[in-house]
Amino acid sequence: MKKDPALTNMLCRKKCRYYRHDKSEDLACQGYLVAGWLIEAGKLPDIYEINATRYRIKEDDLVRKMCENCSFHESDCDFMIDRNLPPCGGFSLLAQFLGEGQLTIEDIPDQLSFNNITW
Ligand code: SF4
Repeated sequence: MKKDPALTNMLCRKKCRYYRHDKSEDLACQGYLVAGWLIEAGKLPDIYEINATRYRIKEDDLVRKMCENCSFHESDCDFMIDRNLPPCGGFSLLAQFLGEGQLTIEDIPDQLSFNNITW
C-alpha cells in the first residue's frame, strides 16, 4: 500500500521536518495513518491548513495514545527525545483539532497500519 499523494503533500512535504522524499514513500508514522483514517471516517475535513500556532494543551494525551504506537517512536523522531522540537505533520494537525475541540482523544484510534485505510 502506498501513501495518498494529496495527504502526503499537505501533511509531510509541507509540514513535517522528518519527511525524506527519497525513502519515505512507503513508510508512514502513526500521525499520518491516524490523520488519514480520520479523514476517511469523515471526522476530519480533507482540506485543511495546519496553523502556525502549536497546540500544546493535548500533546501529552496524544503522545500516550498515538506516538507510543509509532514505529518511529524509538529512534527516528526528535520530538520523542526533546518535546521542544516540532512533532510530525500528522501530530501537529491532530493536536490542532484536539486543541480546538473538534476532536477528542477518544476519537484517536489505537495503532493503525496501511491495512486499516482503503485509499
Ligand atoms: S510525533 Fe513522532 S512518534 Fe509521534 S506520530 Fe509523529 S513521527 Fe510518530
